[in-house]
Amino acid sequence: MTAAPRVTRLLRLDDYIPVLGAAEVSELRALAGRLQGRTVEMVNSTSVGGGVAEILSRLVPLLEELGVAVRWDVITGGNDFFEITKAFHNALHGGPYDMPPQSFEIFLAYNEQNRARLQLEAEFTVIHDPQPVALINARGNHAGNWIWRCHIDLSRPNTTVWGFLEPYVQRYDGAIFSSPEFSRQLSIPQYLFYPCIDPLSEKNRELEPEYIAGILEGFGIDPKRPVLTQISRFDRLKDPVGVVRAYQIVKRYFDCQLVLAGGGAADDPEGGRVLEEVRQAAQDDSDVHVLDLPPWSALEINALQRASTIVIQKSLREGFGLTVTEALWKKRPVVASAVGGIPTQVIHKHTGMLSHSVEGCAYQIRFLLSNPAIAERLGEQGHQHVREHFLITSSARRYLTLFLHLLDGRGA
Ligand code: UDP
Repeated sequence: MTAAPRVTRLLRLDDYIPVLGAAEVSELRALAGRLQGRTVEMVNSTSVGGGVAEILSRLVPLLEELGVAVRWDVITGGNDFFEITKAFHNALHGGPYDMPPQSFEIFLAYNEQNRARLQLEAEFTVIHDPQPVALINARGNHAGNWIWRCHIDLSRPNTTVWGFLEPYVQRYDGAIFSSPEFSRQLSIPQYLFYPCIDPLSEKNRELEPEYIAGILEGFGIDPKRPVLTQISRFDRLKDPVGVVRAYQIVKRYFDCQLVLAGGGAADDPEGGRVLEEVRQAAQDDSDVHVLDLPPWSALEINALQRASTIVIQKSLREGFGLTVTEALWKKRPVVASAVGGIPTQVIHKHTGMLSHSVEGCAYQIRFLLSNPAIAERLGEQGHQHVREHFLITSSARRYLTLFLHLLDGRGA
C-alpha cells in the first residue's frame, strides 16, 4: 500500500485554450502570479483508484505548471488501518460503526507513524478526507495554513465516528466541502469546491473511433446492441448488484448488454467480496461483462464510457460521483441515483435522469432507450453543464483564490 502517486503527462497550460478559451487561461496565470514558488502539500490515502487520486493526479501538475511548488504525499498503513478507515467511511455516510473501541487508537497510531515520516512544513497543507485527518498534530508553531478537504457527504454521519474525528477537524484553518449539503456546523471557515475532471487526461480526452472499437472487441462487447455501463470500484455503496437487477428488468424489453467495470482502490479492502457478489448476481448471462480493471485503465474506461448507450451510476450513497462528471463530459445520457453530489450534476430531465430504486433506474433506462433523441439532448446539455462548473481549471482557480485569501489574512 505504498505506491508512489502517479501524475500523468506533464500539462501545458496553453493546451487548455482550445477547450476553455484564452481568457480563462490568462485568468489562472494572473491569479497564480503572487503564488510563484509558494509551497503546497497535498496529502491523501491512495495514489490510484477513486475520485480523490483521480483529481490530485491532474491538479498537482496543473498547479506546478502555474508556478506553485506542490508536493503530493500518500499516507501508508496496514490492512488493519484501511479496514478501520473504510468502516469510518461507511459510518460517515450514515451506516453503523461496529469496530472494536481500540480501532481509534490504531487509527491514531498510523497517523502518528505518517506524521513522523512525512515532511509537513509547507505554507499550505491540504489534507484530504478522514484517513489522514490527525496529521494536524504535525502543526507546530510555524505559520503555515492547514485545510481539511472533505470529499464525502457528512450530512448524516454516525455520531461515534464523527464525535471522534470532529476535534481534529476543528483544529484546521478551514474545511472544504463538495456541496453545501455535505457540511457540518463547524467553528472554522468552510469553503465550497466542486470536484473536477481534466478534459485533457487519458480518462477524458477524445479518442479515435477505431480505438474504441478495438476496446469493445477486446472485451467481447457487441457494438451493434445497446450497452449499459456502470464504472465504479466494486463497493456496496455503488450498488453494483442493484445495477444487475435493473439491467435484468430492462433486458425483458431490450436486447441490451451490461458492462460493470471497476477495480479496487488501495484504501478499500472490501472490493474482492463485492466483486464475488456481483458475479453471483449476474449468473451466467453472457451479456453481462464484469470487468475487473487494473489501475492503469484510464484509456479503456474512457473508451467504455464513450461506447455506452447509457451510463448508470446507481449509488446508494455518493461523494460527488466523478464517474457521472466523466460520462456527462462525453455527452452520454446518464441515469443516476439522487444521492450525494449527483443531483448537482444530473439535473433531472435536463442533463440526465435521476432515479431512487432498482425499478426506477430500469424505468429511466427503458425510457431513454425508447427515446434516443431525448437521450442525445440530455448528453449535449450535460456536457455544457460540466464545462461550466466541473473542469479542473475551475478547481485550480478556487485553490489559488483560497491560498491568496489565506495569505492576505496573515498579511504575507
Ligand atoms: N475509476 C477508475 N478505475 C476503476 C473505477 C473507477 O479509474 O476501476 C475512476 C473513475 O473513472 C473516477 C473515479 O475513479 O474517475 C471514481 O470517482 P467517484 O467520485 O465516481 O467515486 P469514488 O470511487 O471516489 O467513490
